[in-house]
Amino acid sequence: MSETLFPRVALIGIGLVGSSLARVLRRDKLAGEIVACARRAETLATVRELGLAEHTTEDPAEAARGADLIVIATPHSAYAEIGRRIAGELKPGSILTDVGSVKGAAVRDLGPIVPPGVHFIPGHPVAGTEHSGPAAGFAEMFDGRWCILTPPAGADPAALEKVRRMWESAGMKVTTMDADHHDLVLAITSHLPHLIAYTIVGTATDLEETLKSEVIKFSAGGFRDFTRIAASDPVMWRDVFLSNREAVLEMLQRFSEDLTALQRAIRWGEAAKLEELFTRTRAIRRSIIEANQA
Ligand code: NAP
Repeated sequence: MSETLFPRVALIGIGLVGSSLARVLRRDKLAGEIVACARRAETLATVRELGLAEHTTEDPAEAARGADLIVIATPHSAYAEIGRRIAGELKPGSILTDVGSVKGAAVRDLGPIVPPGVHFIPGHPVAGTEHSGPAAGFAEMFDGRWCILTPPAGADPAALEKVRRMWESAGMKVTTMDADHHDLVLAITSHLPHLIAYTIVGTATDLEETLKSEVIKFSAGGFRDFTRIAASDPVMWRDVFLSNREAVLEMLQRFSEDLTALQRAIRWGEAAKLEELFTRTRAIRRSIIEANQA
C-alpha cells in the first residue's frame, strides 16, 4: 500500500537516476508534488513533456525552498556549490539525501552545510545503465537491486526509515553501512571495472586503423561487453574517480599485482594456476546469478 511519504520533493539533478526516481514517486504516489531542478532549459523542457514534475527551475535554492525531501542527483563535482546554494533554504525537519556513487565525498561536501534540525541521509541506489538524461530513466531500473544508505552516527531513525521506505517502494533491497566502507566496496565492484573497460576500449581506439576496424568487426569475442560499460557518462565517471581517489588507487594496486602474477603464469606456461583462477571466477559468476544480481 502506498502512502504520501513527502508532501513536497525537490529533485536537484533530473537525469537518468533523478528521473527514474521521479517516475517511482509518481507511480507509487509517494510525493504530494515534485519540483525538478537542472542547469539547462532543454532538460527541464523534457521533464515537463514527460510530466515528471509539477514545477521546474534552474535554481537549486528555489527547488529546495519548503521541500520535505531534497534529493541531489547530479554528478559529484556539483555537490559543494549546490550545498552552498540550498543551505539557507532547508526547513527544519526536512530530509536531505543524494544518489551519488561515492559516499565519503558526499558526506564531506554536504555534511557541513546541513543546518541543525535537518536530517542528512546519504544514499546510493546501485542501479543504472550507460544512458543519461531524463528521457533515459525508467521506474523499473531499481527493481531487485541494492540501495546503500550511509547515515552519519546519530542520524534520526524516523528520517532514515522514510528514505528506506521510498527505496523499498522502488523495489530495492536497502542496507546501511559506513560511508568509507561503501567507497571501498564499490571501488572493486563498480569503479575498477569501469576503469578497466575505459582502458581496454581506449587501447583499442589507439590501434592502427586496420586493426581497429577488425576489433569492431569481431567485438563479440568479449570486447563488446567492455564497450557497453565504457559508454557510461564521461562527467559522472570523471567525478567518481576523483571523489573516490584513495579507495580506487588501493584496489588498482592490488589489481596490478594480480595482473602481474597472471602475466607470469602465462609466460611460464603455468596451466594449473590459470585454470584454478578461472574456475574460482566462474563460481563467482554463478553466485551472482543465484543472488539475482546478474
Ligand atoms: P545524468 O543522467 O547525466 O543527469 C545529471 C543531472 O544533473 C542532469 O539533470 C543535469 O542537468 C544535472 N546537473 C549537472 N550539474 C548540475 C548543476 N551544477 N546544478 C544542477 N543540476 C546539475 O546523471 P545520472 O546518471 O543520473 O547520475 C547522477 C548521479 O547519480 C551521479 O552522482 C552518479 O554518481 C549517481 N549514480 C549514477 C548511476 C548510473 O548508472 N548512471 C547509478 C547510481 C548512481 P542538465 O541536464 O541541465 O545538465
